[in-house]
Amino acid sequence: MGILEIKNVGKRFGGLQALGDVNLSVAENTVHAIIGPNGAGKSTLLNCLVGKLIPDTGSVTFQGQSLLGRSPHEINQMGVSRVFQTPEIFADLTVFENVMIPCFAHRDGSFKLNGISAIRGQNDIKEMAEAILMDVNMIDKRDMTASSMSRGDKRRLEMAMCLVQEPKLLLLDEPTAGMARADTNNTIDLLKEIKEKRDITMAIIEHDMHVVFSMAERITVLAQGTPLVEDTPENIKGHPKVREAYLGE
Ligand code: ADP
Ligand code: MG
Repeated sequence: MGILEIKNVGKRFGGLQALGDVNLSVAENTVHAIIGPNGAGKSTLLNCLVGKLIPDTGSVTFQGQSLLGRSPHEINQMGVSRVFQTPEIFADLTVFENVMIPCFAHRDGSFKLNGISAIRGQNDIKEMAEAILMDVNMIDKRDMTASSMSRGDKRRLEMAMCLVQEPKLLLLDEPTAGMARADTNNTIDLLKEIKEKRDITMAIIEHDMHVVFSMAERITVLAQGTPLVEDTPENIKGHPKVREAYLGE
């Protein structure tokens, strides 16, 4: 059984069947990509995993526990972290402070920024934040203001803010959207490094085939709300159905 099991998930918006009958299993410690044309239902599926949408039918389990009916915050506490398309960082705080913030998020999901001085003294949190900044190669920038970071470093910082929560499953929604090729390659390298250093499973929604084929061990192709095929990158590349549905051939 996979760390994430999606069974018979369907989701309708009015007259539109955004997800038909999705069955997908993500194996622990793998990178699993979900690709498909615009409107295929990728974001809808992801929103069903993080508690932003509730499917009409089916089940979603993470480590054997149902995610359905849980709040995004609860799901996050269970070990599922989502990386957003635009970095969500605190611009006026330092890199180091940004990484410590998720450590004192309250149960209701809110932060108290004035609490930062209180946690500055907590050595365990400081050590954890330092270790993660080393993992993402940002330790030399720890005292710089987040707003002064380059786009690529903001992405690294956001990744560090996710990792400090020690997620078991990282969900990435087009992590390289809008990036220049050099930044895209840096992001690929970063994700690969993280994967090597930590026991982490990644489910990645991606448009850029270069990213998909550089990282994924399994690929699911979604078309019109239903998985068309699931296979290794090698087999997906030459699949006629995929070429037709996805590459428009
Ligand atoms: P993808 O991420 O693969 O591009 P989406 O999951 O965003 O696709 O969308 C799948 C389909 O569902 C699209 O036709 C989209 O217009 C529709 N859709 C998505 N979200 C909503 C919503 N909140 N209300 C109505 N229709 C939606
Ligand atoms: Mg989308």
